[in-house]
Amino acid sequence: MTERDTIFALASGKGRSGVAVIRISGPAAGDALRRLSAEELPQPRQAKLCALSKPDSGELLDRAIVLWFPGPASFTGEDVVELHAHGGHAVLSGLYDALEALPGVRPAEAGEFSRRAFENGKLDLTMAEGLNDLIWAETDAQKQLAQRQLEGALSEKYGDWRGRLLKLLAHAEAAIEFSDEDLPEGFEQAILPGLGALREEIGAHLEDRHIGERIRSGFRIVILGVPNVGKSSLLNALAKEEAAIVSAEAGTTRDVIELRIDLGGFSASLADTAGLRESENLIEQEGARRARDRARKADLKLLLVEAQSWPRIPDDIGAEADANSWLVVNKCDLEEVDPNESPLGELRTFCVSAKTGEGLHELLAALEVEVVDRLGGLEHMPLTRLRHRRALEETTKALGRVLEADHGDPALTAEDIRLATRALGRITGRVDVEEVLNVVFADFCIGK
Ligand code: GDP
Repeated sequence: MTERDTIFALASGKGRSGVAVIRISGPAAGDALRRLSAEELPQPRQAKLCALSKPDSGELLDRAIVLWFPGPASFTGEDVVELHAHGGHAVLSGLYDALEALPGVRPAEAGEFSRRAFENGKLDLTMAEGLNDLIWAETDAQKQLAQRQLEGALSEKYGDWRGRLLKLLAHAEAAIEFSDEDLPEGFEQAILPGLGALREEIGAHLEDRHIGERIRSGFRIVILGVPNVGKSSLLNALAKEEAAIVSAEAGTTRDVIELRIDLGGFSASLADTAGLRESENLIEQEGARRARDRARKADLKLLLVEAQSWPRIPDDIGAEADANSWLVVNKCDLEEVDPNESPLGELRTFCVSAKTGEGLHELLAALEVEVVDRLGGLEHMPLTRLRHRRALEETTKALGRVLEADHGDPALTAEDIRLATRALGRITGRVDVEEVLNVVFADFCIGK
């Protein structure tokens, strides 16, 4: 086996900073430090101030705090050096050039540190994903979910299920190898209840109303309305930002404009859509198509209508009303509105003015309560990713074939249990990992 490259990258954020951390990982990490510094390697895991110089000319690059983590007690499991240098552009590029000139040392690719940690058994795939989520977390709920995942809450759950499946697989295989007389009484019969119980647990985990995925990617709120009712104005007023185009000309928002807001510690996306109305204009038709598509995927729809035409509701908007919709009457500064006259009496109704701000506080407070109600109070670690969901669905499908198909063929039973085990193992990276690795680490940044 050829020795692995030693990789380096900026581990701290980009841009000018007081201190920047360069992480170096691989078999030549210790040597790299010896080449840059005349001093002895620091004691493991103890900070030491070192002068770092160009190996060829001896020119001073920086005076930095250096940490030495001999493998396997390091993030990647390899020898790791951290240089806590001054975070200026010239300092860092000098250090990069000096490192890159060393034999066997090169800049890291995106996600490469975490990938090595995975390959060295420091993290499984769900933990690596949790780490990435933690780096990207914007709200408190996202942070907590990511931390639980990084600490192994999903690994534990999926690992436990996989362990039980493997045991049942061993039993199924024993049933093929040995005749009934050689096996303990009721041996084969015990397999089905075991599989049934597992399918039930996995099924309950799958039926979580996508809470974990919502916490991670954001609760989706979409504003729907005919042109000019004030959708962009409402988006801006709610987000207190001027991100959407507010204009008096009908049909200006032809695409979906989205903002992220924090509602009670949860991330929510608020989307302003093109106006829903019949139009000859092809671009406007496409905008309306995208708006309807967005509405289908939304967790909550705000159906926006105008006070001047209250209580009449345009057909295109009435058609969108369902249990996930609220009615919002805008421009209440122009006309007094009685919410009790609503033709969609079953929908919660709010009267607001995006212009004066009237009623917005109540609407925002209600949104916050709704999001916290629907996403909060998690007892169990939920599913957080579509990748996991797909694999679990594959697992339950394979288990369903064994439980429902009355084939009674032990070889087919064993094969389906094997497929179920493999699907489950792909989540944490225990089997056929190559194909999933690229997917998982591709959205990491360099230096992670
Ligand atoms: P959209 O096409 O639904 O996105 O509507 P806009 O947000 O672009 O608003 C259309 C027009 O209505 C603009 O002239 C806004 O200034 C105006 N408008 C929006 N909200 C209100 C409101 O609450 N009160 C009043 N008086 N005018 C509003």
